[in-house]
Amino acid sequence: MNTNKNIVILGAGISGLTVAYLLKKEGFNVTVLEKNKKAGGTIETIVENGFLFDKGPNSSLETYPIIKTLIDELKLKDELVYANPIGNKRYILKKGKLLHLPMSPRAFLSTSLFSVKAKLRLLKEPFIGKGKSEESIAEFVKRRIGTEFLDYAISPFVSGVYAGDPAKLSVKFAFPKLYELEQKHRSLILGTIKTIRERKKRKEKSKQNAKMFSFKNGMHTLPNRIAEVLGNSLLSSSEIINIEKKLDGYNILFTQNNEQKEINADTVISTLPAYVLSNLIKNIDEETAKHLNDVFYPSVLVLFLGYKKESVKRKLDGFGFLIPQKEKKSFLGVIWNSSLFPKRTEDDNVCFTLFIGGALNKNLSLRTKEDCITKTIKEFSEIMNIKEEPFFTSTKFWEKAIPQYNIGYEKVDKAIKHFESNNPGFFLGGNYRRGIALGDCLHSAEIICEEVKKYFNLAVTNHSVT
Ligand SMILES: Cc1cc2nc3c(=O)[nH]c(=O)nc-3n(C[C@H](O)[C@H](O)[C@H](O)COP(=O)(O)OP(=O)(O)OC[C@H]3O[C@@H](n4cnc5c(N)ncnc54)[C@H](O)[C@@H]3O)c2cc1C
Repeated sequence: MNTNKNIVILGAGISGLTVAYLLKKEGFNVTVLEKNKKAGGTIETIVENGFLFDKGPNSSLETYPIIKTLIDELKLKDELVYANPIGNKRYILKKGKLLHLPMSPRAFLSTSLFSVKAKLRLLKEPFIGKGKSEESIAEFVKRRIGTEFLDYAISPFVSGVYAGDPAKLSVKFAFPKLYELEQKHRSLILGTIKTIRERKKRKEKSKQNAKMFSFKNGMHTLPNRIAEVLGNSLLSSSEIINIEKKLDGYNILFTQNNEQKEINADTVISTLPAYVLSNLIKNIDEETAKHLNDVFYPSVLVLFLGYKKESVKRKLDGFGFLIPQKEKKSFLGVIWNSSLFPKRTEDDNVCFTLFIGGALNKNLSLRTKEDCITKTIKEFSEIMNIKEEPFFTSTKFWEKAIPQYNIGYEKVDKAIKHFESNNPGFFLGGNYRRGIALGDCLHSAEIICEEVKKYFNLAVTNHSVT
């Protein structure tokens, strides 16, 4: 393998860190440029007032084999914590009440979350044909399994994952596995049964069956450890301000502690948010820059609440709850952190993470933040029957939180592929491509690592032929 090439990775969120780690392990010379002082991007853990809380992702699912491999190689096994099995229990708010989301056929038959009519409607599903054009997840679900499942199962789930708008998210790109089920098997029900068998063979786990994990000291354990391993290869406080294409590679201009610097790269791997990369590649490919800028990132406000245990009378026997849009509340859902993972707070306290905003709440901004918090705490207390005020609160406002794979993403996808083929040695990754979950980001890093290896092998082969 050609290891004397200079690979520059843009951004040290989990995508950039992982691809850097994998390439370094293969013997490549990598440099990672990160704007912030600390690596991790969206992953941010805080310890304050006896509470440990994550401002970005709270947990991850063990979906791809790379996750376990990485944890083993980074010697993080002792730091790992799996979610309490009660976390499999999820609640949905319906008419002010928290109802279990059924996870087994038996629970499904007895739940009052869906009407008998909606349940019987499922029998038709295997006989419904394929959709015609690029559909939203809302259109897809309505067509296949009906409106009630959209309102009280899929829409809240879409809020929980993307903070997204089901009428806009593309089923093909935002939920590729669901889309594939219809394409390959014509039916979600029959397809699910077949896929479970196939997955077992590939040793992959579905998101429903994969184990949920975090770390004793919170999610930042993973990026912190990778950053440690990367050592001097990671340049923090380094904001990229321009990228220029050269005959023999790329030139990257960045500022480090107010000083302007540059670095030459044989290969560039971007894991920057789409709107950031868009600005940096305008002079290389204006069309792709435009498409990247079209990727919508709604704002999300994360609200962390700490209470004395005795203030919360309700049994905290689950992951938390999600709120269907129909229920018209000012927040999207809540995680019951202290039930999910150990030592998130002292034994006589409990804590919660609430999510506000998203694609359906365009009014959220830094200016309206305080009003939203007051309203949310009031609604949350009513649902949970809590009479006291929280004695600890903390917030994080993500102005551009999560990329939306909305209808029209096909054009973005084509533009990315077109850009990569026109600019050899320039690879695009990050959570606006191949999925937003941490597991997806790690898997995408693995794919990029293989593509880079292939690219250099090809360059060596071409060179030896000429
Ligand atoms: C509130 C919230 C909750 C979430 N919860 C979960 C969850 O529970 N489970 C889950 O699996 N996923 C969750 N996600 C999604 C997941 O956290 C992200 O998709 C993932 O962390 C993105 O990683 P990334 O490296 O692709 O991007 P980022 O983390 O955005 O990293 C991009 C990096 O680029 C850097 N950068 C930007 N501009 C420049 C520049 N000009 N120069 C240099 N560097 C620059 C940034 O500082 C950042 O470090 C959540 C996301 C949010 C916002």
